[in-house]
Formats: sequence, C-alpha cells, structure tokens
Amino acid sequence: MTATATRVLVLNSGSSSLKYQLLDMHDGARLAAGLVERIGEETSRLAHTPLATGGDTRETEGPIADHTTALKAVAAELAADGLGLDSPQLAAIGHRVVHGGLKFTEPTVIDDAVLTEIERLVPVAPLHNPANITGIRTARALRPDLPQVAVFDTAFHTTMPEYAARYAIDVATADAHRIRRYGFHGTSHAYVSRKTAALLGKDPSEVNVIVLHLGNGASASAVAGGRCVDTSMGLTPLEGLVMGTRSGDIDPAVTFHLKRVAGMSEDEVDELLNKKSGLIGLCGDNDMREIRRRIDAGGEDGARAQLAFDIYIHRLKKYLGAYTAVLGRVDAVAFTAGVGENAAPVRAAAIAGLEQMGMAVDADRNAVRSDEPRLISPEGSRVAVAVVPTDEELEIAQQTYALVSA
Ligand code: ADP
Repeated sequence: MTATATRVLVLNSGSSSLKYQLLDMHDGARLAAGLVERIGEETSRLAHTPLATGGDTRETEGPIADHTTALKAVAAELAADGLGLDSPQLAAIGHRVVHGGLKFTEPTVIDDAVLTEIERLVPVAPLHNPANITGIRTARALRPDLPQVAVFDTAFHTTMPEYAARYAIDVATADAHRIRRYGFHGTSHAYVSRKTAALLGKDPSEVNVIVLHLGNGASASAVAGGRCVDTSMGLTPLEGLVMGTRSGDIDPAVTFHLKRVAGMSEDEVDELLNKKSGLIGLCGDNDMREIRRRIDAGGEDGARAQLAFDIYIHRLKKYLGAYTAVLGRVDAVAFTAGVGENAAPVRAAAIAGLEQMGMAVDADRNAVRSDEPRLISPEGSRVAVAVVPTDEELEIAQQTYALVSA
C-alpha cells in the first residue's frame, strides 16, 4: 500500500448479484456505487452511479455469465471514471462475508488459509458463503497483489455469552454439527449501536442499546457497553423477528408436521419458511409501504394486511421485553434499515404501551423524515428511542481500512 492509497472497494457478492461501493477513507467520500443483478441469466443488468462526478446512473443490460465477468464489467465502469482497480490509490478490497463461525471474531486479511476456513463454513451457511467465496476468488484473480479483507456478519455477535448462544439441545450433537446461535447483520448492529451512543453524547462502553434492524431481513440485538449479549437470528437468518419473507421464531415441530402430515420435502419446507412466510406469507406483500397502503384502504383486504402488521409488531414487542430483561438497564432503542428508518407507523406501534419500560414515542418527532440519526422519544424519556440510519458499506470500508493501514 502506498501512502496515497486511501480508497476501499466494498464488495457484497450474492448468489446472482454483486453490489459494490468505492469509498475514500481520507474523507469518507463515496466515489462510486452500483449493482450487477441476475448474473448467469440472459437479462443481467449493471447499474453504475459515478458519485464522484455527480453523473447519472449508467445502466447496461445483456447477459453476464458469471461473477468474474461481472467484476470485470464493474472494473471497466470504474476505469471509465478514472477510478480503475489498477489505481495506486486503491488500498484494499473489503468483502462482506455472511458466516464467520466462531473462528472469525474480527475483520481478517484473506490468504489461502482464511479462504479455506471460510469454505469450511459452507455447511452452516449454504445459501450465503458460496457466493461470498466466489466474489473473493474473482477479486483476488483480478488484483492478486492487493490486500483483500473479509468482514463477517457474525463477528459482532461472537461476544454473546455461552448461555445465550447455545440451544438447549444435546451438547454432543450440537458440537458435532456446529449448531448454535451465530447471529447476522452484525456489521449493522455494530455500526448502529456505536452511532446511537454518539447520538447520546456517550462512549459505547457507557450505554446499553437494543438495536432493531428492520429491513427485508430483520434482527434485534441487545448490546451492553458496546458488546453484543444476545441477538435474534440463530444458526441461520431464519430465527427471530417476523421478516419480509421469513417466518422468524416458530415451533420446530411445525417442520416435522409439514413433512409427515403435509408430505412436503425438506427443500419445500425450507422454501416455505425462508421465502414464502413472514409478511408475504401472511398477506401477499413484503413491502411495508404496500402493507400500510392496504391498511389505510380498509375493507377485507385491509384487515388481512392489518393482521400481518399486528403479528409483525407483536413479535417486535416480545423482543423489546426480552432484551430489556436481558440488559437490566436499557438506555436506548435504535430503529434502523429500510422499515426501521422509514416506517413511522411501525416505530409508533412497536413502542406503544411500553411506558412501564420507560419507552415512548413523540408523534411529531416520529413523523420527521431525515437521513440523520435522531431521537423520536419525548424530552426527558428514561429510554431514548432513536432512528439511526445504518451504513454497512461504510462500516466494512472502515474496518477494512483500519486493518490494512495499521
Ligand atoms: P434488505 O437490505 O434487507 O433487502 P432494506 O433495509 O433495504 O432491506 O429494507 C427494505 C424494506 O424496507 C422494503 O421491503 C420495505 O418494506 C421497507 N421500506 C423501504 N422504504 C420504506 C418506506 N418509505 N416506508 C415503509 N417501508 C419502507
């Protein structure tokens, strides 16, 4: 790395997508951002936004066969803006890696041994780690000399005490198959809990925060003095809150029942719980905007949307109660991600009736729309309720840069 190398390319590689952002850690500026979708199909699409120049988003459609072709296409777009991967200003590439198991508790510079370890975790993250590995291999092939860093979704949760992380099942079976609660969205929970402390003018070590990351996937975490002590997602991202398309918490016997009585296969049950449940399973929509529109329109359809909303809110309240008990003292509740940052009715309903726990929402504050962290609880509330926009790319870039510039 040269002294002028301050840029970090953040890659988030999914099974058929590649999201990226180029940031300059000298001043935190975002230079470019984009997304390749439907990799491997005839109708792949690349959308690239040259943020440094303020130019319009450039879209290209047409087949992109694999992740290597996708990353080359991204490199060409960046090069067209004078930000190519061969630039001496590029310090590192930071990769989002979903599952780091128990081994990876920190961001890690990737070498062959690290890559082998990430591959060893594929059995516990079959839907996510293979795509992340493909992204890493592709980037290493293009820039073998450049430091590549893995930032793990699970890392922030590795501080959970054993009694929170272990399921109450036979220990030998659990250990043989690495079955335990790992938690996900850790980059977001880390970033948002720190930002919430800053909003209160405190050091993270001084505050206890419940973070509600409510996107299409959703998870809650209890963070005590900057360390995660419990989180709602488990071995996989299926556990916990009601999500856009996932059931969240469910009696595991439902799965036996679906197999034995409904005759469903393992894959069908998997798809039902991960893709056809949650809000979409309950009312046919997983977008909170559409659900609110249907509720406002009323009638029978509105009642169906209202029930889905109520089930979603009921689960949130249960986790707020549980994590209040786990933390003992709660200083703040932070709402984040697509739903948490934008859906004022969700925030109001989740906190309604929790005055006994010191939690309340001020209607006027809650109605404010902003990209900045902000308080929505009334002046003088015992617990600060806040909206804190998440920024996983910035967090990955910061962690990557901190590691390679140390
Ligand atoms: P993910 O990263 O998990 O795909 P996001 O954090 O981007 O998801 O959140 C996406 C979700 O946010 C959408 O499915 C939608 O339900 C919700 N959302 C986005 N904008 C709004 C809005 N203005 N009002 C209500 N909900 C919104």
